[in-house]
Amino acid sequence: MFSLKCLFGLHQPVRSSVVREALYYSSRCKGCGKPIRRLRKGRWALKSGKDR
Ligand SMILES: [Zn+2]
Repeated sequence: MFSLKCLFGLHQPVRSSVVREALYYSSRCKGCGKPIRRLRKGRWALKSGKDR
């Protein structure tokens, strides 16, 4: 399942899978299932991508 929001870089974390890492929180996207990391409050980006 792919969310339209993901196309705009608005990934939404699966709350139950949020993990705290050294520099950021990471999780899995509810929409596209890819690994994401938190940039700031409410803003997540793909871990592998360079989009901010
Ligand atoms: Zn996504």
